[in-house]
Formats: sequence, C-alpha cells, structure tokens
Amino acid sequence: MTRLHRMLKKSVKALADNLWPPLCISCDFPIQDSNGLCSSCWARMRYLSAPQCYACGVLFPFDVGVQALCVACTRSHPPYENALSALIYDDACRGMILAYKHGYRTDLAPALTRMMMRPGAFLLERAEIVAPIPLHWTRLMSRRYNQAGLLSNRLAKIGRTRSVPDLLMRTKRMGSQGGKSSAGRRRNV
Ligand SMILES: [Zn+2]
Ligand SMILES: [Zn+2]
Repeated sequence: MTRLHRMLKKSVKALADNLWPPLCISCDFPIQDSNGLCSSCWARMRYLSAPQCYACGVLFPFDVGVQALCVACTRSHPPYENALSALIYDDACRGMILAYKHGYRTDLAPALTRMMMRPGAFLLERAEIVAPIPLHWTRLMSRRYNQAGLLSNRLAKIGRTRSVPDLLMRTKRMGSQGGKSSAGRRRNV
C-alpha cells in the first residue's frame, strides 16, 4: 500500500467515524474508536490471571508458588508447555466473541488481540512463530475468514515474530463447539 493510499484510507475512516460513530458491541453506547467496547463494558470483562496452573492455566484459589501445576497436570503433563485463556467466557464477552466469529466483525480483532496480550505477553516474548488453529476448508469457504488467523497475524506483528497461517492443517470437519459443555468441547476437538 502506498503512502497516498494509507492517507486516503485514514481520511475516509475518520470521516466515517464522525458521521457514524462506532458503537460498543455490547451495549451500543457510542465510542471514540472502533475498539469494540465502551470503558464500562471493557471493565466488566473477567480476565484470567495468576494464581493459575503453569501448564493448563486453570485458576487456583490461592497462590501455591511459581510454575505450580494443578493435580491433573501433575498426574499427566499435557503435551504442551503453557496454555492460557484471556477471558472467562460469560455474558460480558459472549456477544463480542460471537460477533467476531460469526458476524463478520473482523474490526474487533485489534481489541481481542489486546485482551490476549494481557495474560499472553510473556509467551509472545519468547515465541519464534505464531500459528493459528486452522478452519476446515469448507468452513473457511462459508465464513470467508479464519478468526484465529487474523489474531495470529496481529500477534506476530506486535511480537515482531513470524505468523505461519498454514503450519497446521485441519483434515476433518468437526461439529461446532457452540452449545457444548467443556467436556463436550474437549471430546469434539
Ligand atoms: Zn458498552
Ligand atoms: Zn493444569
């Protein structure tokens, strides 16, 4: 993209934001920039943070030390070093996540990336590559974008590392994760 293109794009966006101010995805309150959320909805988000299992990220009721593992991970360590979730999936964030995944709200990617950075900055610091979980090609055709791919591209840019969107390949089309319990989601994957 040339400098002129970038300037034009910025001007058109500024004009559109003045004419139709972006709205909070959760409560429809007008907001300054297309971050997705107003400040009060942003504050309602429940972030996951320490103390938690060093491997699977499950929360501990109290601090049990550095790199502590939960009972399940102590019995059988998962085949990865760290897994982290940014948010507790509840009423505060559900609308935003579903709009991003299924409602073509790809403009929410910057806000979601920032949320992922809160617990995940230390992982990104030592990452050599960032790779998204791929969609099955039939789902990619119907959705038209891989929501995880957009996030991984942004994370790679922030972490000054490489995004490798085709590192993994999904060979089976699985059922939707929507409406399934935690155990059901695990079985599905
Ligand atoms: Zn709001
Ligand atoms: Zn664990």
